[in-house]
Amino acid sequence: MRTKRRRTCPSPPAPWSLAAARLAPLLALTAVSCASLVRRALPAVPEQGPVAAFAEARYYAAHGGDYALGGVAVIGRATSGLLSPVFARGLTTYDHGRLLAEQLYSVVVHHTAGRADETVLSVQRFHMETRGWADIGYHFFIDGAGRVFEGRPLGYVGAHAGEGRNQGRVGVCVAGNFETGEPAPAQLAALWALLAALDDRFGGLDILLHREVRAEPTDCPGRFLAAEVERFRAGRKSKRP
Ligand SMILES: [Zn+2]
Repeated sequence: MRTKRRRTCPSPPAPWSLAAARLAPLLALTAVSCASLVRRALPAVPEQGPVAAFAEARYYAAHGGDYALGGVAVIGRATSGLLSPVFARGLTTYDHGRLLAEQLYSVVVHHTAGRADETVLSVQRFHMETRGWADIGYHFFIDGAGRVFEGRPLGYVGAHAGEGRNQGRVGVCVAGNFETGEPAPAQLAALWALLAALDDRFGGLDILLHREVRAEPTDCPGRFLAAEVERFRAGRKSKRP
């Protein structure tokens, strides 16, 4: 049945066919449709560009497991049970032919403005089911215990900073309402480690608060977390000439 279905798939465009063939057994296991098979194959082709450009980015079809970003243990999408994205709603990849480090220039810090026990899956469901987005908008999510979860893979432009303001910006969301309460020490420790790891990997990223980026006024990431980030940012900047 699966074999038949795959045979009836149109051939992927030439440059991608090798990788599509390699991915086919994996994708067949998930019984995806022909259309999504071809679409899912496109972003995950390490043979097609500078190897370094792919080694540092994450894509849906190629990844999903836990991974280490510098010294930070990132819990992957597969482990946390995130839903598959809805590609038809639109997802933009970064340029495969260029290093991701050349395309990312800042990190934007958010809070959920909700309870500290929110999960990466509950946020994904809100973004996909209520807002109708293709996937969770943030690239990383830090839960109430300070664990770091993968959200939208880094190879894709996020949806978190506001219309037209997401290109080149990594979205990091911390669970809780920090307009009304303090972040937990474990959450802050995870955030600093993640910011440092991203900065090491992608080089000289600006750290921004959502309220500094968004066109409309917002409290995000809340006054208590904002104050902590401002202190971290000031200390970090003072180390650089
Ligand atoms: Zn925000």
